[in-house]
Amino acid sequence: MQDCNLNFIEVNEDIIKCVKCTRLVEYIKNIESKKVKRYRNLNYWSKPVSGFGDIDAELMIIGLAPAAHGGNRTGRMFTGDSSGDWLIKALYEFNLCNQSYSHHLNDGLILRNVYITSIVKCCPPKNKPLPEEVNNCEEHLRKELGLLAKSCKVFLTLGKLAFDQFCNIYEIRKLKFKHGLIYRIDADKVLMSSYHPSRQNTNTGKLTWEMWINIFREIMHNFL
Ligand code: SF4
Repeated sequence: MQDCNLNFIEVNEDIIKCVKCTRLVEYIKNIESKKVKRYRNLNYWSKPVSGFGDIDAELMIIGLAPAAHGGNRTGRMFTGDSSGDWLIKALYEFNLCNQSYSHHLNDGLILRNVYITSIVKCCPPKNKPLPEEVNNCEEHLRKELGLLAKSCKVFLTLGKLAFDQFCNIYEIRKLKFKHGLIYRIDADKVLMSSYHPSRQNTNTGKLTWEMWINIFREIMHNFL
């Protein structure tokens, strides 16, 4: 257990120090100078954002990348933005965390049986990483997947890019992204895919609360 913990610390330290993608390193430094009004008195994290949560989790949630004024500001994925509001509220409904909100690094949030990460650890312009940036970041995600390989039963990818990158790493061919897709990887592991709970999807009704919560119902009833 102690070794596993140390490995997570090492992996996360490597992520935070990473400067492989020059475009993104430059971009995240500049976000702070264009702060939105409501955050003008706050300091931004403006570094790569590592994963967080239970290091023996059975559920791993894989998003796209930190949001400019969410994870890139607060230093924690799905924290301080509307996607985080949806995700943490859903986890709380199923007792997968201790509180219904994720506002900042020291807000007391504890994930239970869940680890949250992303395919790209630096916020990309317009939420669109370049293919080479997704490739550059693959080694970090591979290490996280390796550390959770024993415990994890469900990999939930959010959005098409996260789904495609997961399939790429696991060498799953010819599988098309679909909301609610369930794919058995082996006897005790499944891949599930969902639309990302971004404003773009939740404000337009592409992803409704019912559709979103049903993903977690399915996971809890059938796989955990
Ligand atoms: S996106 Fe990933 S690989 Fe690129 S600089 Fe950030 S942490 Fe490094």
